[in-house]
Amino acid sequence: MPLEEFQCQISEEFEQWRSRSNAINPMHCPTCNAIAKRLYSTRGLRMSPAIDGVSLTGGLDALALSRLRSHLG
Ligand SMILES: [Zn+2]
Repeated sequence: MPLEEFQCQISEEFEQWRSRSNAINPMHCPTCNAIAKRLYSTRGLRMSPAIDGVSLTGGLDALALSRLRSHLG
């Protein structure tokens, strides 16, 4: 189950473990219950094998991963 990072539109960022089957549902902020937008950080990337449903488990080497990280900022 990947750890995903979200940005609440009202309060602040938070992290949430989420099952893949649940990933299509909107995430509600635990603080204010507003719908939060998912972030794609390097932190989340390290914890999660999937980016927007695309599996990276097929063998990303370190170079490709660093390129991806710099692309993501
Ligand atoms: Zn909030």
